[in-house]
Amino acid sequence: MQSTPTAEAILAGDRRALAKAITLVESQRVEDRAIAQSLLNTLLPHTGKSIRVGVTGVPGVGKSTFIEAFGQHVISKGHRLAVLAVDPSSPVAGGSILGDKTRMEQLSRADAAFIRPSPAGRALGGVASKTRESLLLCEAAGFDVILIETVGVGQSEHQVAGMVDFFLLLMLPGGGDELQGIKKGILELAHAIAVNKADGESQALARTTQQHYRGAMSLLNHGDVWEPRVMMCSALNGVGIDTVWQTISEYEEVAREKGLFEQARADQNLTWMRQLVDELLRSSLTQHPAVRAALPRIEAAVTNAQQTPLAAAEAILALSRE
Ligand code: GDP
Repeated sequence: MQSTPTAEAILAGDRRALAKAITLVESQRVEDRAIAQSLLNTLLPHTGKSIRVGVTGVPGVGKSTFIEAFGQHVISKGHRLAVLAVDPSSPVAGGSILGDKTRMEQLSRADAAFIRPSPAGRALGGVASKTRESLLLCEAAGFDVILIETVGVGQSEHQVAGMVDFFLLLMLPGGGDELQGIKKGILELAHAIAVNKADGESQALARTTQQHYRGAMSLLNHGDVWEPRVMMCSALNGVGIDTVWQTISEYEEVAREKGLFEQARADQNLTWMRQLVDELLRSSLTQHPAVRAALPRIEAAVTNAQQTPLAAAEAILALSRE
C-alpha cells in the first residue's frame, strides 16, 4: 500500500508527493477520490499563483519541441514550470498522444520542471476536470507557470481554453486554417498564434502565413482589451520563444490591470462547478435502482414514439425521487 501524500509535502514542493496526489485525483476509486478532495480542500488557499497557459496545434506542428524550448526559457528566468495535458483520445487509443515522458526529454530532467502524462480513462468529471485539479495541485507545489497541452480532439481546445489564462495556438507555415486542420471557432479562443517552423526554406512562407493571420485575427472580435498577437518562431532553433513568453507576460499585466484576470478565473470556476453539477446529477440519476430498472423500457417507448421525450424525462426524474 502506497503512503498517502501530505499537504505539507506538496506545499514543500516534494515532486513524489505531487505525483502521488495527481494519481489520487485521476483514480476511479471512490476512496482515492475522497482523499484527493480532502487534499485539494486543504491546499486550495495555496493555489492560483501561477500563469496558466494553454497550447494547442495539430499533431506535427511542433508542440513538444516548442514546450521543450519554451520550458527551458521560462526556467532560465527563474520560474518553475509544470506541463499537463488534456488528451481525450488517450482512453480510446489506449495510449496518449500527449505529455508522455519520452517527449521533452531535456525539460523532464530539469529540477524546476514537472511533466505529467495525460490522464487515461473516463472518470467522473471527465479528463478535463482531472487536469483542472492536477493544475491546482501543481500550483500548491510552487509551480508558477503551468502549461496545458492539447490536440484538437473533440472539445479539448474549448476545455483547455476554459481553464487557462492565456491560450496559444501553434500553426504551420502555409495554408489556411482548414488546410491545417484547425477547427472552426479555435481562432476566436486564441490570445496569440505562433507560426512555428519559421526557419530554413519555410521562413518566407511563415511570414506570409503570419500576415494572413494578422488580417484574420483583426477581423475577429476579442473585445478591445487585448489585440491577439501573431508571431513567428522556430521551436527547433529556439528563435522567437522569448517573444512568446514576453507576450504572455504582457497579457497578464494588461488583464490584471483591467481586473479581467481574476474575473476570467472566477467565471471559469463557476462554469466548472455547473458542469460538475450536471454531471453528478446525471450520474446519480442513472445509478438510481428504480431508474436503472425502468430506463430500457422508457427509452424504447421514446424510440417507438409511444412517449414524448419530455414525458419520459419527467418520468425518469419522478422515479429518481422514489
Ligand atoms: P507535436 O506532434 O506537435 O508535438 O510535434 P513535435 O514537437 O513532435 O514535432 C514534429 C516534427 O517537427 C519533429 O520532427 C520536430 O523536430 C519538427 N519541428 C518541431 N519544431 C520545429 C521547428 O521549429 N522547425 C523545424 N524545421 N522543425 C520543427
